[in-house]
Amino acid sequence: MCGIFALTHHREAAHMAFLGLFALQHRGQESAGLSTLHKGQITVHRDVGLVADIFSPDILSRLPGTAALGHVRYSTAGGDARANIQPLAARVNGQHVALAHNGNLVNAPELREDLERRGAIFQGTADTEIILHLLAQAPGADMGAKLKHISGLLEGAFTLVLMTQTHLYACVDALGYRPLSLAKFNHEPQSFLGDAPECWVVASETCSFELVNARFERDILPGELIEIELATGKCSTHVLPQVRSLAQSEPRRCVFEHIYFARPDSYLWGQSTFLFRETLGEKLAAQAPVDADLVIPIPDSGVPMAMGYARASKLPYAVGLIRNHYVGRTFIEPTQTIRNFRLRLKLSPLRHVIEGKRLVVVDDSIVRGTTSRRIVELLREAGAKEVHMRIGSPPVKFPCFYGIDTPKRRELLAQQMSLSEMREELQVDSLAYLSIDTLHQMAPQKQRTSEGGSGLCDSCFSGCYSDNFAQRRLREEPNALVGG
Ligand code: 5GP
Ligand code: MG
Repeated sequence: MCGIFALTHHREAAHMAFLGLFALQHRGQESAGLSTLHKGQITVHRDVGLVADIFSPDILSRLPGTAALGHVRYSTAGGDARANIQPLAARVNGQHVALAHNGNLVNAPELREDLERRGAIFQGTADTEIILHLLAQAPGADMGAKLKHISGLLEGAFTLVLMTQTHLYACVDALGYRPLSLAKFNHEPQSFLGDAPECWVVASETCSFELVNARFERDILPGELIEIELATGKCSTHVLPQVRSLAQSEPRRCVFEHIYFARPDSYLWGQSTFLFRETLGEKLAAQAPVDADLVIPIPDSGVPMAMGYARASKLPYAVGLIRNHYVGRTFIEPTQTIRNFRLRLKLSPLRHVIEGKRLVVVDDSIVRGTTSRRIVELLREAGAKEVHMRIGSPPVKFPCFYGIDTPKRRELLAQQMSLSEMREELQVDSLAYLSIDTLHQMAPQKQRTSEGGSGLCDSCFSGCYSDNFAQRRLREEPNALVGG
């Protein structure tokens, strides 16, 4: 999972892109990079860590230019090596380019093998480098034509932004797995370049537009290629060759973006993420009611769903767990004793709220079940009388090959156990999930496909993948279970 932010025609491109990346930090905390274009030269700075730590004022001052492209990374393919930090910069057919990618290519092993056989040399292990090599070999007069050509060779999820010396390109694969939106800057004359009246912004999530005060224009459609001319600011739209018409494409938008990944203040494909989650909570209350005293969320991901659940069930909503926001993902865990404190570092119970109460505990998802289990222990120790776990999505049973970092099948709790076994394992009085049908009902009318489908990808819940490569990846999984 990753976040992309790019903009054109701004005097302080690096600073603005820094802000944009800061708003997308939740999409990747492992590493970040920023490239800027100045007088035909692309400068890049990339490092491991968080955006605010990497881009000091000093570093930003060394990124001159009026166009910028940045990326935050959470490695799903290729591991966390430094060579995989994006944007990747290279010279391609004499042109300086920077490339950022969100999503996973399902045919990456096949493409890489083929390229290596023909002499390509790779620096890293991520699938994004494959795209650079394909671009270098693609026919076409300009990068736009080359991008169109290679889009036909890539399978799986690719939301790409490419900055060249003359253009900014942004494209979304034909199935539109990952979000990408277009915005313009609000008028600030001192920031604009005299010859280009428009200042374009492209980003993974609309929450980043709010921060930089840009006006949302529209989502980039599945199968669409946007081309922004840096000299004039002219923005044009193209259709990727394998797509017949943008209006007719049958997308597979990632439903897990709606459930967990996106920030609640983002609009994903036209829908408020917060409202989406709140509604799932309401539907969950209708599908899995329980006689209890309080509804509490598991912060932060369970908050909107717990609010929806409480409202629909007419039970009081309460805060029963306090989250410490300063716990980084990279917290050092030197000994087993300290490792056992891990959850307590992050969440702390409010005993006066919990003690003697029958709780409905709402969260967005269960993946491995290890955190959920510890939370239940914590609540019991704080005196909870009953713990009823309610999950605002269906059981996660299958890995994602399109860019969400779900573990192997054998590590997924719901793949290994039945509902009653999970109830035992988690030590809860009851456990209920949302149905897959309910998720599909959430898609608005205007996003429905010609056959009335929701246009949402549910492969992590259903195990139904849209391509043969993903089916093959599933079979190749070490110790994979039979079936699915
Ligand atoms: P578990 O009980 O499976 O160990 O953890 C469940 C929690 O993991 C939920 O609160 C959910 O919000 C969170 N979660 C779901 N997907 C992801 C993910 O891709 N990355 C991280 N870091 N957490 C996730
Ligand atoms: Mg969570």
